Amino acid sequence: MSLTLTVDGERWRSHLLATVAKAPGIVPVAKGNGYGLTLARLARRAQWLAEHADSTGAPLDLLAVGTYDEVDQVATRYDGDLLVMTPWRPFGAALELDERLAGRVVHTVSRPEDLAGLRARDPRARFVLEQLTSMRRHGMTRRDLAAAAHQLHDEHGGGHRSGLRGVAMHLPLNTSSHLGEARRLINDVVASGLPTRTVFVSHLTHAELAELAATYPDFTVRPRIGTGLWLGDRGALRVSATVLDVHAVDRGDVFGYRGRTAPKSGHIVVVSGGTAHGIGLEAPTGDQSLKARAATLARGGLDAVGFVRSPFSIDGKQRLFAEPPHMQASMLFVPSGARVPRVGEDIDVRVRFTATDVDRVVVV
Ligand SMILES: *Cc1c(COP(=O)(O)O)cnc(C)c1O
Repeated sequence: MSLTLTVDGERWRSHLLATVAKAPGIVPVAKGNGYGLTLARLARRAQWLAEHADSTGAPLDLLAVGTYDEVDQVATRYDGDLLVMTPWRPFGAALELDERLAGRVVHTVSRPEDLAGLRARDPRARFVLEQLTSMRRHGMTRRDLAAAAHQLHDEHGGGHRSGLRGVAMHLPLNTSSHLGEARRLINDVVASGLPTRTVFVSHLTHAELAELAATYPDFTVRPRIGTGLWLGDRGALRVSATVLDVHAVDRGDVFGYRGRTAPKSGHIVVVSGGTAHGIGLEAPTGDQSLKARAATLARGGLDAVGFVRSPFSIDGKQRLFAEPPHMQASMLFVPSGARVPRVGEDIDVRVRFTATDVDRVVVV
């Protein structure tokens, strides 16, 4: 009935423990749809990992969330501190933070004026300063960092009680190596005179982390890891849909919302999972204009009779959408000759976990 994510619990948990053990100082990232597993589950798991510090040898004192809006969902399930990765701004959700949780939050500050703004509102606020990286999303330039250092120095005389918890750098994905950039950024931290020796990084490999640690022995390099932690062992995770109905069709038979006709004989197989789950959003809609079809064809998604490839597969073979996915179900076309699945059978679905909301997560 459902789009289901089945987790091999033992395998998943041992992957989590091994990942944490390999990445001392890790800050697990729980954001968005909880990487397909829900934020609540990730927060509970982070708590569990913190309680298993004896076996991983890695204390876990900080969990990162994406936004201020996510704080409530994890705060009741995880006891430690919460790093909010969206930079603080003097407006919106950042200002609506529950007073009782404010003491557990570590803010991200990415502009000098926000440092002053945050501390004016909450003198005890703890924060990391974000550095501008080649991503150019948010962050301070070296000049901004130096200005921040002056600001903190003027107020605290260079002391360590300013609330500064470190510097954060968000590195891009898929570049050959980030080491050169990470080194330049750490050098900027040193040059800025900021009274911290902690840097939070993303998207560095274990080898890169080890190399940075060796180059900067006085620094603590803390990796923020989401995908590699929660989704790092794909074999522990399986997404499946249920076959809800099967209809034999002959060439010319009409089906679907748009009254299409079957181009050849086969079966319409109706399965759970649709747009509400994030299924197939990249597929073209019913637009059958020549141009749209040509574009899809060029991307390799359309077969000769105009069907679009779906993420559902039966017996290991990826099947075609008979028409664009519906809200909670999808219609597939299985040509005659192929095995027809029975109603109630589970079939595999290949999804992007971060863009898919399953109906249920089952841990076995
Ligand atoms: C999402 C995110 C991460 C974690 O990224 P993954 O690719 O899931 O490991 C780290 N840092 C920041 C700022 C992020 O937004």
